[in-house]
Amino acid sequence: MFHFSSVTLTPPVIYHDENGGGFYLDHGALGIANATKITESQTHYFQNQENKFLAASTILNIALRSYLAWMKTQGSPQCGALTKGGRGCRCRLRSQGYGDYMGIHEWMKADGSYCHIHENRSFLAHRN
Ligand SMILES: [Zn+2]
Repeated sequence: MFHFSSVTLTPPVIYHDENGGGFYLDHGALGIANATKITESQTHYFQNQENKFLAASTILNIALRSYLAWMKTQGSPQCGALTKGGRGCRCRLRSQGYGDYMGIHEWMKADGSYCHIHENRSFLAHRN
């Protein structure tokens, strides 16, 4: 378990498709739709690492920080705007695909962009 801003994340695990589909990195709450296909040598690498979060982010070739933020927001990045009170807007940017979940690369592109309210109005007029 890893504690990240009061959210407890479940470490990623290896999922083996018994029907010949090979090996996948299963990112817990993000569901099998967002699992990452990996090679057999990557499964060995993963199994030999103590920090599963770090191992997964290395396999995905992204920063650990981004990987954890992706998991923490369950694949739904938050709006990057600040509200009048100076807090981060709590609006989530929705995926086009599987419910609220975005794949990691889509998530990284969308992270910090603005929700439908902030892209159309003055930031100062928005409270939530
Ligand atoms: Zn917003």
